[in-house]
Amino acid sequence: MSGLLTAAAVGYHSKQNARVLVIDRNSELEPGKKTNAGWICGDAASKKSIGFIEKNIQIKYGSPELEHPVKGIWVYSPDHKTKVLFEGEGYLLNRKLMPKRQVKDAKKLGVEFKFGITAEKLVAEDGYIRGVAGRDVEGKPFKATAKMVVDSSGSSSVLRKFNPIDSYIEREIDIEDMEATGRSLLEFDQGKEDETYFTPEYCLIHLDQDIAPAGYAWVFPKGKNKVNIGLGVSKPGLDRRNSRLKKSDNLSSLIDQYIKENPSIKNARLSTNPDDKGNEKGNWQVPVRRQNDCMVCNGFAIIGDAAFMPRPLDAGGMGPAMYASMILGKVVARAIEANDVSQEGLWAYNSEYMQTHGY
Ligand SMILES: Cc1cc2nc3c(=O)[nH]c(=O)nc-3n(C[C@H](O)[C@H](O)[C@H](O)COP(=O)(O)OP(=O)(O)OC[C@H]3O[C@@H](n4cnc5c(N)ncnc54)[C@H](O)[C@@H]3O)c2cc1C
Repeated sequence: MSGLLTAAAVGYHSKQNARVLVIDRNSELEPGKKTNAGWICGDAASKKSIGFIEKNIQIKYGSPELEHPVKGIWVYSPDHKTKVLFEGEGYLLNRKLMPKRQVKDAKKLGVEFKFGITAEKLVAEDGYIRGVAGRDVEGKPFKATAKMVVDSSGSSSVLRKFNPIDSYIEREIDIEDMEATGRSLLEFDQGKEDETYFTPEYCLIHLDQDIAPAGYAWVFPKGKNKVNIGLGVSKPGLDRRNSRLKKSDNLSSLIDQYIKENPSIKNARLSTNPDDKGNEKGNWQVPVRRQNDCMVCNGFAIIGDAAFMPRPLDAGGMGPAMYASMILGKVVARAIEANDVSQEGLWAYNSEYMQTHGY
């Protein structure tokens, strides 16, 4: 998500004068896939953040990558008696189709691609990052040099972690700031009518220390009889909950119980939609802290989950990635034009992101 959008924004703002190469370890048929289990996400993004892309680089999304509209998010207390509305319309995305569309858009803006390449380390020279080295699918070495590199490789980034030059970028994330999280894409028969458990019009978040300790659980509609349902927990929170309740649950068993105990969802089965194939069920991780205090150094910038951008409250990371990529794309295009990709030359990304969304 964040890499494809940043690349498109650099292409747009440089009027295609900057040569941009996107490296993805996936094949061209499966761009943006997070893990072998798919494009694991709750899939919800606000209309406002999607609109920020159109406003900045004139790309407008529609069906099929925007799968289902919603009017907002209701957040419920454990007894479902207290609720708070996060106002604002949004969409449930098809995360498998969205990157395919984004690859097409980026190509139209002159962006080049190399698929099947795993980036393993940053290449440094004279105090600047000047490229990446890695391997292709057959294990053959790969190296590309550039004026600068953007790390958009998600929550398991090794590039940020082993950044070889001095910088203010925090390399490590505290384990307590990483949530284990998972979800399923399900079709179901309507059970009890209860809009605190399912409504096609709103996303629902359930805060409950027994169901999702130190995290949250969600029921996000993808149609009248389709749902993205899952939850996230912190490891210490799960340990505390298990010891309090004398149980030995893990992430998957908590998700199974959460689905089973939803009275509105009956006969749940994995989505049969061909556009969900290979993406029906999976667990992954998401950082839940403030974003990295500094996101640039000489010849290098970080973005998205690699920069710890998801909101701590609900792990929403797509909105932040959309805002940040529009800002970073513009800053990179300008820095390359000015021939100054130093930390100072890229600093506007830090300040503009903070003023626009990061605060
Ligand atoms: C279960 C779950 C639910 C979530 N729910 C929501 C939600 O409802 N709304 C929301 O806004 N956010 C949600 N998020 C967070 C959101 O999915 C992320 O914030 C978002 O995908 C971040 O985008 P990204 O581009 O930074 O990273 P990613 O989407 O993780 O993309 C990283 C890309 O880099 C590739 N890559 C990784 N390492 C390498 C390497 N070494 N070399 C080459 N390529 C590499 C990956 O294969 C992938 O293509 C959720 C996350 C999870 C796990």
